[in-house]
Amino acid sequence: MRIRAQIGKVLNLDKCIGCHTCSVTCKNVWTSREGMEYAWFNNVETKPGIGYPKDWENQDRWNGGWQRKRNGRIEPRMGSKWRVLAKIFANPDLPEIDDYYEPFTFDYEHLHTAPEMKAPPTARPRSLVSGERMSKIEWGPNWEEILGGEFSKRSKDYNFADVEKEIYGEFENTFMMYLPRLCEHCLNPTCVAACPSGAIYKREEDGIVLIDQDKCRGWRMCVSGCPYKKIYYNWATGKSEKCTFCFPRIEAGLPTVCSETCVGRIRYLGVILYDADKIEEAASVADEGNLYEAQLKVFLDPFDPDVQEQARKDGIPEAWLEAAKHSPVWKMAMEWKIAFPLHPEYRTLPMVWYCPPLSPIQSAAESGKIALEQGMPDVSQLRIPVKYLANLLTAGREKPVVQALERMMAMRQYMRAKTVDGFIDEAVAERVGLTGNEIEEMYRI
Ligand code: SF4
Ligand code: SF4
Repeated sequence: MRIRAQIGKVLNLDKCIGCHTCSVTCKNVWTSREGMEYAWFNNVETKPGIGYPKDWENQDRWNGGWQRKRNGRIEPRMGSKWRVLAKIFANPDLPEIDDYYEPFTFDYEHLHTAPEMKAPPTARPRSLVSGERMSKIEWGPNWEEILGGEFSKRSKDYNFADVEKEIYGEFENTFMMYLPRLCEHCLNPTCVAACPSGAIYKREEDGIVLIDQDKCRGWRMCVSGCPYKKIYYNWATGKSEKCTFCFPRIEAGLPTVCSETCVGRIRYLGVILYDADKIEEAASVADEGNLYEAQLKVFLDPFDPDVQEQARKDGIPEAWLEAAKHSPVWKMAMEWKIAFPLHPEYRTLPMVWYCPPLSPIQSAAESGKIALEQGMPDVSQLRIPVKYLANLLTAGREKPVVQALERMMAMRQYMRAKTVDGFIDEAVAERVGLTGNEIEEMYRI
């Protein structure tokens, strides 16, 4: 056993309101520079949807996935023609500038200038770059929430084909959710493995993945190698850049900028201990459906005296051992099992985890689809299909997602009984395999 400490994050999607404050504050701090205009280390995309960059979830390079035509490549401002050509041939599978997004506005002018007609005029979306009507461009990281009709027509572009057939095309069955995304600071980072210059490294002390700007030679193998597409090429410097997990703030005991500024308070930071010797085994489990559980086996119980002793021998500081005991990441991922990795089938063992969203539970309750007072509600009646969430978070395994949703619903029911009606309903906690104290701790966190 070789113990390492990792700083990780859990994002509670049930609380994300899609305000993009996290993305904007991150941009102000890290990427408001020439060469990085298109880059968002943190972005919030509307799901199901195309995302940012376009179709990043399509990993099938033989089926329209990351094998791209080359004319829109992001190229360095400087550098010899031959060097640029060598890099194009060495690494053809890169996103183009048009794959990131096209900023758009609405044609408000039309509201004033339209001639008299039977129906009121509408302000159609228009590209801020080309000025063209967006109906010609037809996508954007948050396109679907604004023009859901267009989205259902374009559903053939998505890789969750079996889910689409069931849920799209009928207005009453449409749904959306927000997915904030950043670099996963993976335990098995493909960006590190892909870099021919050895410029990317995972820090021993906290697992943060960084790019040494002095060593980076702009090959961009990390951009094509990262399945989450969370490395960005700076065309002005000719080097790649990525989320730094705000390491100067972490070193000063402060949260990341996105966590500190999150309006919904959905972002939880915490230390988790893991066995570095088990990474390879966990990443190479044959059955994709077992990858989520395989990753859980890598994590170590911070309360176990043997783990603590070995961790001290491996040089983990006392403060980190203490932090691991109070870590919300440990609690949500391992104790309560309400948080999951994003696309564990990518096999990089990502360390930004997500609590699935229940929403809109209120409308489901009001329409009588779920009755919170009569035993456990039926999660299959929630608007966001469990199957979709399982494809996103557990490589298709529905059971863990259902358990998490039930536990989160039980928490609401328990706390509502306690705070509104004034009584403790232990039966609610028991039904989901928790105690009242655990439910209350979950609520406080
Ligand atoms: Fe590297 Fe991508 Fe993992 Fe971040 S998400 S550590 S860039 S492989
Ligand atoms: Fe969601 Fe928080 Fe970002 Fe707002 S700031 S979009 S609530 S993660």
